[in-house]
Amino acid sequence: MHDLIIIGGGIHGAAVAQAAVQQGLQVRVLEQFPQPGMATSSKSSKLIHGGLRYLETGQFKLVRECLDERRYLLKAYPDLVRLVPFQIPVYTSTSRRPWKIRLGLALYSLFSRKSFHSVARKQWPQLDGLKTENLQAVFQYADAQTDDKKLTRRIMQEAIQLGAELHTDAQFISAHCGDNGCDVQYRHQGENKHTKCKLLINCAGPWVNSVLDGVHPCPTKRDMELVLGTHIVVPGKLEHGIYYLEAPQDRRAVFVMPWQDNMLIGTTETPVTEPHNPTPPDTDIDYLLAVHNHYFSHKLSRSQVLEAFAGLRVLPRSEHDASRSAFSRPRETIIHFDDIPRPKVFSLYGGKLTAHRATARQLMQVIAPYL
Ligand SMILES: Cc1cc2nc3c(=O)[nH]c(=O)nc-3n(C[C@H](O)[C@H](O)[C@H](O)COP(=O)(O)OP(=O)(O)OC[C@H]3O[C@@H](n4cnc5c(N)ncnc54)[C@H](O)[C@@H]3O)c2cc1C
Repeated sequence: MHDLIIIGGGIHGAAVAQAAVQQGLQVRVLEQFPQPGMATSSKSSKLIHGGLRYLETGQFKLVRECLDERRYLLKAYPDLVRLVPFQIPVYTSTSRRPWKIRLGLALYSLFSRKSFHSVARKQWPQLDGLKTENLQAVFQYADAQTDDKKLTRRIMQEAIQLGAELHTDAQFISAHCGDNGCDVQYRHQGENKHTKCKLLINCAGPWVNSVLDGVHPCPTKRDMELVLGTHIVVPGKLEHGIYYLEAPQDRRAVFVMPWQDNMLIGTTETPVTEPHNPTPPDTDIDYLLAVHNHYFSHKLSRSQVLEAFAGLRVLPRSEHDASRSAFSRPRETIIHFDDIPRPKVFSLYGGKLTAHRATARQLMQVIAPYL
């Protein structure tokens, strides 16, 4: 009998496993793919950040929490998480005016305890080929970048060293839950297996509701939207860190980032209906190339794309969200369970790579009375 069976070896499954074994719990993680971190947690923008733009939608708690976590991760994993300068160019056509960005950065630097400044006009020509025509201001601040797949695997490894079991190639099939816990069936390396646990922790990311379909009696589900985000890797070297750009097509934020010896550009937000391991749509790739070519003097074409990848973002839906675009929707994580005397199944919806440890801590507090 395990205390917890965790479904999903992404950043959240790894972080919950780590938090649980630190409390002395018996934990097994089931991951359907051959390695942890092969789904969303290796397809992100790889930023460990508070999310400057979330200030605009009043998500102060999320920004603060993520910046606290950024501070912790910079110290705990200096080989995997590092501070990088971010440049925000403001043109006459940019929708947010310099005063607004200055105000946002002032608040952000209060939360992050790191300063920001305006880049002097005479330095603009040195900014990696950024176009300077109609440029009104460039702001520079600091945020962090990581390797999401390596970070996920490191945290999983730490959990394993403390006693967690990880079964890869292990697909959750079903669970029958009653007063004494859950009887869990899964397919492990081609064989049917079963095990028992006190609580089932559903960290299946985009598959969160598919997992609940296999639980008997079936728990309630949160209404959610799946949004596909594409990134492309293109040749090029950025000497001045990350560029935080406003897409001319729809005013969304797009990052152009140094990545290994190339550049990474992302992301998009294309709604999809079913959870799957997505391939990046051509329209997304063209959109990202167009953003780059709008801002930089050296043009990139489709034939220069070295790699493209896509992940699915889970956006829990509430009644206030009908009129909001995916881009302006809250990014808070939801821990969902049935309001019954002894719930057995706890599901995680949404979340940020940056906040994984805080999310795992919150989940441990929520489940403590039911263990
Ligand atoms: C495009 C994009 C960019 C992002 N950028 C950032 C960023 O820059 N910074 C940031 O902080 N956050 C970012 N995020 C958010 C962050 O990446 C995600 O919140 C996080 O990676 C989700 O992790 P997860 O563990 O919940 O899901 P996943 O990483 O998807 O893990 C779920 C795991 O469950 C497994 N699974 C599913 N069903 C089963 C089953 N039946 N049996 C066994 N295993 C199963 C899957 O194989 C998968 O490995 C971004 C998200 C997207 C989509």
